[in-house]
Amino acid sequence: MTHSRTFTPEALAALRERYRIERERRVRPDGTRQYLSADARFGYYAADPYTETAGRDPVRDRVEAVVVGGGFGGILAGARLRQRGVERVRVVETGGDFGGTWYWNRYPGIHCDIESHVYLPLLDETGYVPEWKYAPGEEIRRHAVRVAEKFGLYADALFSTSVTALTWDETDGTWIVGTDRGDEFRATYVVTATGTLSELKLPGIPGIETFRGHTFHTSRWDYAYTGGSPDGGLTGLADKRVGVVGTGATGVQVVPVLAEDAAHLYVFQRTPSTVDVRANRRTTAADVGAGRPGWASARRDNFLRVTSGEGAEEDLVADRWTASAGLLEKLLPSFRRQGDRAAFETEYEIADAARMNEIRARVEEVVTDPETAEKLKPWYRYACKRPTFSDLYLQAFNRDNVTLVDTADTHGIERMTQRGVVVGGTEYELDCLIFATGFSVGVSGVHSGRLPVTGRDGVRLQDAWRAHGPRTLHGFTSNGFPNLVQLAGTQSASSVNHTHVLDEHAVHAAALIAAARARGAVIEPTREAEDAWLAVCAEDAPDHAWFHAECTPGYYNAEGRGRPNGPTAYPHGAVAFHDLLRRWREESLEEVLRAPGAVRD
Ligand code: NDP
Repeated sequence: MTHSRTFTPEALAALRERYRIERERRVRPDGTRQYLSADARFGYYAADPYTETAGRDPVRDRVEAVVVGGGFGGILAGARLRQRGVERVRVVETGGDFGGTWYWNRYPGIHCDIESHVYLPLLDETGYVPEWKYAPGEEIRRHAVRVAEKFGLYADALFSTSVTALTWDETDGTWIVGTDRGDEFRATYVVTATGTLSELKLPGIPGIETFRGHTFHTSRWDYAYTGGSPDGGLTGLADKRVGVVGTGATGVQVVPVLAEDAAHLYVFQRTPSTVDVRANRRTTAADVGAGRPGWASARRDNFLRVTSGEGAEEDLVADRWTASAGLLEKLLPSFRRQGDRAAFETEYEIADAARMNEIRARVEEVVTDPETAEKLKPWYRYACKRPTFSDLYLQAFNRDNVTLVDTADTHGIERMTQRGVVVGGTEYELDCLIFATGFSVGVSGVHSGRLPVTGRDGVRLQDAWRAHGPRTLHGFTSNGFPNLVQLAGTQSASSVNHTHVLDEHAVHAAALIAAARARGAVIEPTREAEDAWLAVCAEDAPDHAWFHAECTPGYYNAEGRGRPNGPTAYPHGAVAFHDLLRRWREESLEEVLRAPGAVRD
């Protein structure tokens, strides 16, 4: 395979054919149904290993605002509400503390692969300056706690508690909030910040329940069994045969640490990730310009501009994410021109092939055994799966105590027995099997049905959206659901730096609530405003279904079935969306407010 940047039409056709074959090897008829949820008889996989649930009396009071979820979305919503003078803000969180994904995920090797100086929110406000380009998970979790403390969010928070129902009471102008701890309290405003990839999933491997060894999911790491900490030192594994299922962003981080400490490690791979250079290093305040007022938000804005393909005079972060921005720039026009295949082939495909060749060449350079190297090479387009970054992962396969087991031909692990795992007719005996198999998509959030929301006139949000499709203004508010503000919902815009998006949304949510509070008004958009926003989302809606239909299966494309088009997001990207929100707040915010008791259709 050539590593040159010029590709003949024949070479591109051959590559396309290779990608098609690799995709076909992996597509399963059961698609997303291949996974198991961690409930009912598998509920123990989701139990909180970090905090014991303490008994308490049910809460029956009244607060100004309830925030559903205590990850960075909920923390930022709480912080921004406090800045706006909202006193009683109650965050309700399933975990035993603030942190969300960083509360649950504490697996050894955990780091964020977005630069810490743009990922950690509110650095300007807290004065904190991360010391590493990519921060370890524990530092990020502590920052979540730092922000929650600074903004007084602990006072009213309810932990180890999940909201189970939200019901609007028009006579009182409040939401009645029910939880799984028997609470029933009232809140004038609701902000939902329920996250996107928050429910762990398990592979539906036949016989999974028969395995007699130890098992757990990476998002509930069992340090009592492994010993050690997120920094490593897993002494409990010194005499253990350990298996890990999954080689996504989590698997790539956890494998090198397991390789160090396990007697033997079997890595069960179905699709290899792209593993690019990481180059983590210590940074000084001077390196990142910390100290100048607004340095962190300026850096964050710069990262968003560069990674959104919007162009910027300077690339401040200058890492492998920003290096890929040129690729994205070439991909988006072919989506925007309603799936223009010719534009794709001239503007994107060659650049993608060159990039993927670099990724595959790196595998060859690092991994000494040619057969293992071949299995670790990813054969799909760069944007098909979430990229990963590591200077330790590929190297781990050069160790004598690490075995790569490729499961692509059998669509994953064939079955489990009492003693271990069967692939291609071979049984691999294990003491412990760790699932790095990721999270369900589309099951959290108010529209999923897991959290029933009953608005004006007893209408269930889930029913209304199932019947007519999601209807929002800017993704935040909906007619019939007064004073309910959704963070990072459908019909908004996303970015790889999710905390940035969450913060922009938190600022917006707090502005809506502050305005309603100041005027004694209720937040509720008209149906016309929703129609207008739907039209904005539909106009220029990108056509990317064809692109994802050619990708290997994964959560980006509903396990190979493709991703639906349609007005599911604001089509012009996060930079334009944030500008639009800012302008709208200055010029038109009043349009979403109504007098209490006034009818709004
Ligand atoms: P993913 O969904 O990305 O990966 C799951 C892995 O499990 C895949 O390799 C999948 O293979 C494999 N798998 C599933 N079922 C089977 C089976 N039956 N047999 C064999 N293999 C199987 O989950 P992750 O937890 O890795 O990552 C989820 C997301 O979390 C990331 O995409 C990212 O957004 C975020 N994350 C971010 C990090 C950061 O540093 N910022 C770090 C870690 C996670 P296949 O690909 O074939 O389906």
